[in-house]
Amino acid sequence: MAAPRDYTRLFDLTGRKAIVTGGSRGIGRALSEALAAQGADIAIVVRSSTELAEELAAELNAKGGDSFVIQADVSVEADVERMAQEVAARWGRVDILVNNAGIIIPGNAEDYSLANWRETMSVNLDGLFLVSREIGKMMIAQKSGSIINIGSMSGRIVNWPFRQAAYNVSKAGVHMMTKAFATEWAEHNIRVNALAPGYIMTELTQEVLREHPEVATNHWAKDAVMNRLGTVDELAGSVVYLASDAASFTTGEVITVDGGLTLR
Ligand code: NDP
Repeated sequence: MAAPRDYTRLFDLTGRKAIVTGGSRGIGRALSEALAAQGADIAIVVRSSTELAEELAAELNAKGGDSFVIQADVSVEADVERMAQEVAARWGRVDILVNNAGIIIPGNAEDYSLANWRETMSVNLDGLFLVSREIGKMMIAQKSGSIINIGSMSGRIVNWPFRQAAYNVSKAGVHMMTKAFATEWAEHNIRVNALAPGYIMTELTQEVLREHPEVATNHWAKDAVMNRLGTVDELAGSVVYLASDAASFTTGEVITVDGGLTLR
């Protein structure tokens, strides 16, 4: 009889090299901390909150490891190319990429400016494409990798009463990019999956609530069958799972973590 397999290290990420875009605050910060807790080193990519990111890198390195900060706007091709070069120079490889950076600019469709539409697409879609392309090249060369895109339940449903068509469209695009890249890169042993969170309280959601704070309890919590919003910590397990060998036969999947919001 074959010896029983050792499942105790299934989620172990010791020594793995991970990039988390938008990793300084909100969901990205929790995901960086969770991956690091399993042993991964983190390249925290931020556009402007470099001080916060430096604090986080110092915290992670105090526990051992080799985390660092890269300032880059994911929607700017030259920034992304430089980011990939910096990672290659420091680590020579990337095992995990979390495409988390994203923005929301709410507004009625009839009044929505083309500039806001393009800004949303440029961060949420162009950014995800550019980072995946540059890091994908490294993963193809090393013949392994796990990419996790942060999509949204807003890519599955129109979350009324908010008007955020550009965001909805961009997140639906994130889900499809996940499936398309998973298909193209399976032959290189690269898995590409996504997470579709429900309402999680961060600066991004507060942006939507600024004008109508009552909506969090009147709509968001009630819409979820679990009758509450989620916390950033409740996304950590899914990302660790997708990053790890526990998900070695999972690709092109969009995992919903929304307290049952999209059930009805
Ligand atoms: P936050 O607004 O709290 O954080 C966004 C992060 O993205 C910041 O670290 C920010 O960096 C970074 N970022 C934004 N634009 C760029 C850019 N052009 N280049 C590099 N980094 C950038 O958002 P959340 O934590 O709430 O959201 C994280 C992800 O989760 C997003 O993709 C969002 O769409 C998704 N999501 C969030 C939900 C929620 O309820 N909160 C629900 C479903 C999905 P900096 O600090 O430097 O500006």
